[in-house]
Amino acid sequence: MTQDARLVVVSNRLPVVLHRGRDGWTVGPGAGGLVSALGPVLAHRGGLWIGWPGVAAEDAGELDRAVAETTGDYGLATVPLGRGEVDDFYYGFCNGVIWPLFHDLLGHCDFNPRFWRAYLEVNRRFARVARAHARPDDFLWVHDYQLIHVAECLRSEGDQRRVGFFLHIPFPPLDIFLNLPWRAAILRALLAYDLIGFQTGRDQRNFLDCLRRLLPDIELSRGGGLVTARLGGRDVRIGTFPIGIDYDAFHGEAASAAVAAREAALRERLGDVAVLIGVDRLDYTKGIPERLRAFQDALERHAELRERVILIQLLVPSREGVPEYQKLKTRVDRLVGAINGRFGTPSWVPVHYLYRAVSRTDLLALYRVARAALITPLKDGMNLVAKEYCASQRDGVLVLSEFAGAAAQLRGGALLVNPNDIEGVADAIRGAVHMPEDERRARMRRMRRRVRDEDIFWWVDRYLRAAADRELADLRGPAEYLPRVDYPPPATEPPSGPSEA
Ligand code: UDP
Repeated sequence: MTQDARLVVVSNRLPVVLHRGRDGWTVGPGAGGLVSALGPVLAHRGGLWIGWPGVAAEDAGELDRAVAETTGDYGLATVPLGRGEVDDFYYGFCNGVIWPLFHDLLGHCDFNPRFWRAYLEVNRRFARVARAHARPDDFLWVHDYQLIHVAECLRSEGDQRRVGFFLHIPFPPLDIFLNLPWRAAILRALLAYDLIGFQTGRDQRNFLDCLRRLLPDIELSRGGGLVTARLGGRDVRIGTFPIGIDYDAFHGEAASAAVAAREAALRERLGDVAVLIGVDRLDYTKGIPERLRAFQDALERHAELRERVILIQLLVPSREGVPEYQKLKTRVDRLVGAINGRFGTPSWVPVHYLYRAVSRTDLLALYRVARAALITPLKDGMNLVAKEYCASQRDGVLVLSEFAGAAAQLRGGALLVNPNDIEGVADAIRGAVHMPEDERRARMRRMRRRVRDEDIFWWVDRYLRAAADRELADLRGPAEYLPRVDYPPPATEPPSGPSEA
């Protein structure tokens, strides 16, 4: 492909917002970083976006027409899904097998073979729609874990066009991956792409480890920041491309008068307390109960924090029909109740808890008002909230999980924590509250620079350059973050536990 080849983006969801009015469907443009970054590229080079519109197929004909008639900077093509497919493909295989397994949460997996068959069938349908709409010299860019098999479906029809893949979620270590009944098929399907992109060095390392151990004949070579895997006469390139945000949009809007007014109103209502925030989709990967327990522990052991801090936890509802997510919600509700019951006073509520999505203005006002953001997923592909917080802040502290993809880029300024270490996170919370302003500013400046320089446009550009260039310039990504253990321990470390008499 050349740098100017048309681009066809294939993702599970189309970048549209649907409304059903009295006269049928209306289709509006979607929001989000991926749309704002890929939209201009699609508009400039030409091409289209293929995906499921987000509504089960009862209305397919009418909806497809409404989407096809939408005029924008680029074309849209729909892949219809029936209700049973949404259950078996989307909730079953994508969110009941790949999502938990790739986040190392084996206990949440339901390896039902029916889900696998539905997943293959839906992937075939995506491939068929792609073949029907794309020209032979278009570059197809397939996104994420729902669509791993699209390239292989194309190859099985004899289609040899260039196809790239980007995995937005983590890739698991070998011993976890081996549990997947369809592990061989998934690996082979990935090798049908021309370029595979991961979020972090950790994910790429896990993938290469699986290739080396499970396919001993594979030849791996490095150059220009990418790895080339050669097997059966085919070359596949593999690289790390950490996704970014639209920094200018967040930074600019965070400084707007509307956000300043919301921030001032919030500040006045909350009074003189240090505000901590948590902003997550309600998902078991986000470490929400662990974070609440750490906050509780901070209040327990560091009594000076009582009545001086509050935690505003925003939870955006997600996959609400799934029993596991309902159970998690109940658990979080109880923990919040327990903390507020145990520590609250008539004039101070420790945890303010919102279970809904908020407007962009309200979200930015939350980012602005927060002394610290607690971003402590058990594992996360990237975590965009961490980057959005940095783009919106000048002197806030980021308490960040070592297992968020963002740790590799933000380690220069964040307080990195192990989310399973309740006392360690509690101590980081205390450290964030007491951190002097000049240190907070210096740390945030370092992180902001990184978020600004490595934004979503940088990400698109690097990926498409890797897909287009035969001779690669240096595409090296951020080094992998791996926690280190000091041995022997530094002399200054305080003794752990009570000393013996
Ligand atoms: N977000 C939102 N509405 C809200 C709160 C957050 O749309 O009320 C957005 C937030 O700005 C961020 C995204 O949700 O862009 C969450 O992305 P992240 O990578 O942190 O986690 P994911 O939900 O993709 O696992």
